[in-house]
Amino acid sequence: MAADRLFFLQYGAERVSKNLSLAGGPHHLYWEALFGVLVETGAGWVLLDTGMSRVAHEDEANTAAYRAGCVGAPNEHEPWHFYPAPPDGVYNWGKGGDPLETALAEVGLRPADLALAAVSHLHVDHSGGIPTLARAGVPIAIQGRELDFVRSGAVGTAEGFFAPDWTEPGTEWRILDGDAELAPGVVALSTPGHTPGHQSFRIELPDTRTWIYTGDAADLGQNYLDRVPCGSCAGGTEADERDAAASLEKLLAAARETNAHLIPGHDQLVLNAVRHPTGGHR
Ligand SMILES: [Zn+2]
Repeated sequence: MAADRLFFLQYGAERVSKNLSLAGGPHHLYWEALFGVLVETGAGWVLLDTGMSRVAHEDEANTAAYRAGCVGAPNEHEPWHFYPAPPDGVYNWGKGGDPLETALAEVGLRPADLALAAVSHLHVDHSGGIPTLARAGVPIAIQGRELDFVRSGAVGTAEGFFAPDWTEPGTEWRILDGDAELAPGVVALSTPGHTPGHQSFRIELPDTRTWIYTGDAADLGQNYLDRVPCGSCAGGTEADERDAAASLEKLLAAARETNAHLIPGHDQLVLNAVRHPTGGHR
C-alpha cells in the first residue's frame, strides 16, 4: 500500500562543522538544511522530523553550543549561496514565528491537521516541533531507546539535546522498538549509532516509488558516495560507532534493493534538487 504524496518542508538551516556529519571529516564549517518530510497517507498526514523550535533558536546555551562547535574552523564567515538565505552571523536559523507552523502553512496545513509525527532522533535540530505538535494533540512516534537515552540524563544542551522538546506535558508518545509501519506507505527503519535510538524512514509513492529519508544516519550525499558513517555518535562508545556503520550499510542496501530516492538528513544541495513540485511528489 503506497502513500499518496510527499512534500519537503524546510524549517531553517544550521552552521556546523563537516566533521559532525562525516566520520574523520575536516573541521570546515558548512550550512546544513533543517527540514522535514510531510506525507499524505490513507491514515492522514504524517510528518517526519520537526526542525528546531523558536525557543531553541533564541536560547543562549543552545547558541553557545553551536558557536563552540565552530571555533577554530577556517571559513567561519563563509556566505550562503542558496535560497533560502539565513541572515549573516547566525549559527542556527529558522523561518519566522514557529518554524514548524510557518513551514506547514506554506502547504496550507496547521499542526492539528496532522494524524501523526515521528522524529528520527532527539537532537535539537529534529525535535523542536514536538511541543507544538503535542499541544495540537498530534502523537509522536519515536524509538523507545531514544527516549530512554535522553531521560537517563547523560546528555543536555551542550551536547545538542534540548530538554523542553521532550518534556512537554501531555506529549502522546508512540514508542517503537525496531522497524515499524507508521501509516500506509510509511515505514520507520531502526538506524542506531548517531544516537542510540535513531531511526530513518521509507516512503512508497504511487508514481515515483520508493523514497528513503535517512535523518542523521547520513547527513550528506557524501556519506553515501564515500560510504562514510556519521561523524558524531552521541552515546560515545565503540559499539555506537559500529552501529552507525551498520546503519549506513542497512540504508544503502535498502536503497539498492528498491532503487530508492535516497535523501540525506541535512544536505541543502540534495534538498534543492528534489524540492517538491506544486501539489507534492506523487
Ligand atoms: Zn543529529
